[in-house]
Amino acid sequence: MSAVQLKNTGRYRIRPPAQPAEISASNIKTVLQTMDRDANIALPIRPQGAGTAATGCNESNSGTVLRLSGLDRIIKIDKLNNTVTAQAGVRLYALAEALAEQGLELIGSHEMTGRTLGGAIAAPCLGANIGNASGSFSSEVISLKLVTGAGKPMTVHADQKNLMRAMRSSYGLLGVIVEATIRVQDIMTFTVSHRRLDTEAFCDVVDTLSNSDVGFRFCLMPYRNRVYLDLRRYAATTGNTYSAPWKIKDWGESTVLPHICKTLNRLLPLQSVRYRLIDSVSEVTQGIVNSRFVRNGTNASSGTRSHTTSSARRVHYSTWCFPATGFSFVVRAFQDFCHQTFERSGYRCDLPVVGYRICKDTSALLSPSFDEPMIVLQAASTQQQGWEDFVIDLADFAEHWAGTPIFSQTRSLRADYAKTVYADRLDFFRRIRRQLDPEDRLLTPFMAQYFQ
Ligand SMILES: Cc1cc2nc3c(=O)[nH]c(=O)nc-3n(C[C@H](O)[C@H](O)[C@H](O)COP(=O)(O)OP(=O)(O)OC[C@H]3O[C@@H](n4cnc5c(N)ncnc54)[C@H](O)[C@@H]3O)c2cc1C
Repeated sequence: MSAVQLKNTGRYRIRPPAQPAEISASNIKTVLQTMDRDANIALPIRPQGAGTAATGCNESNSGTVLRLSGLDRIIKIDKLNNTVTAQAGVRLYALAEALAEQGLELIGSHEMTGRTLGGAIAAPCLGANIGNASGSFSSEVISLKLVTGAGKPMTVHADQKNLMRAMRSSYGLLGVIVEATIRVQDIMTFTVSHRRLDTEAFCDVVDTLSNSDVGFRFCLMPYRNRVYLDLRRYAATTGNTYSAPWKIKDWGESTVLPHICKTLNRLLPLQSVRYRLIDSVSEVTQGIVNSRFVRNGTNASSGTRSHTTSSARRVHYSTWCFPATGFSFVVRAFQDFCHQTFERSGYRCDLPVVGYRICKDTSALLSPSFDEPMIVLQAASTQQQGWEDFVIDLADFAEHWAGTPIFSQTRSLRADYAKTVYADRLDFFRRIRRQLDPEDRLLTPFMAQYFQ
């Protein structure tokens, strides 16, 4: 007897899923009132920025979701000291645009600029690093204002090292960030060169690249045995860094390609024809749009991807980080994993897998590259049916290859595995959490799996 028949008998009542209350803060007073322990607010409270994380870290089935994207004021750009102070809900693209007018840019190459400043500090915000500087967004934070889980306003400065380390990538578990001051830099130009390789040729060079200071980002197409590789170096002179080519690239990768994939998935039932077409469109996007147009850039021009969170929501993704040392073995194994999973389950991702190197970063307690440089690997697809099973298989694969998860971007993460990977750092974080949120007001059941 099917579930629908059971429902129709009237003997069983299926309870609709519980809905959280929602509060949108457009000023700090609302945050203080929401976090007040004496206020009549449904618990737990979950802070939310732009809502682009891939896991349940920014939502809750019950309690209250506190939306912060209305806190969107840029307070001060200090050209003399190269800093910017802004409220937590400011989108990174708005910040980048305001900085560019003053000849400044955010440090590091950060895609998905539709995210908020608070979200980029409270969750890892990673991009292809050039050189050996840390490159994570939150490492540039100089000071933070927040309201703790216990409802107290608090300011944390970079010289309070342990506390600041815990605040960066704290996933909204210590408090609600309302304002931050971060370091920025004069706009610097980098050159981009492109390579089209088969996977084996990529494996031959990736370990050498990982040990050099060249920034790189790649798109892996496992079913075509193909890798499109971008190499980034800082330029000695300022060249033409028009943002138009990056906008075309952004539009191609994050809007046109997912849209075409969705349409072809709907219109073409025959898998072999459908995937051949989808892969051809991906190759054209990578080959023509990137290689022909994008030659150089700046952090301000290159971070245009996915301005809107609605375009981001069209795509499902799950991210794992792997040690940069010996990554070539992971690539080969990953390509085999994709083929085997497709053969067994009939499911495959329709978008290319994106990867890039990040440097060792000890500025955040829960940094995924705390111990060593890592390669970030992001599997993405527009197809919902079969995705949840795929990410379980992907998690098995990643565990086998010593993958490090990210609580905001890794789907189907087993709590035991996360505890093994983050081990002592997680214990230390929990101790700080118990001080700043002793009544677990910010702890949803999803977060409790890892952080209680
Ligand atoms: C298509 C796509 C591609 C992506 N590519 C990348 C990528 O290349 N690199 C990368 O690093 N990420 C990437 N992401 C992930 C995502 O953009 C990041 O996780 C982002 O940092 C989240 O920012 P947000 O404003 O959307 O925060 P949300 O998703 O709303 O929240 C993320 C976490 O931060 C907490 N939080 C948010 N605001 C606050 C606050 N003010 N105070 C306290 N806690 C807060 C939330 O509680 C939650 O735990 C991608 C996402 C998508 C959809």
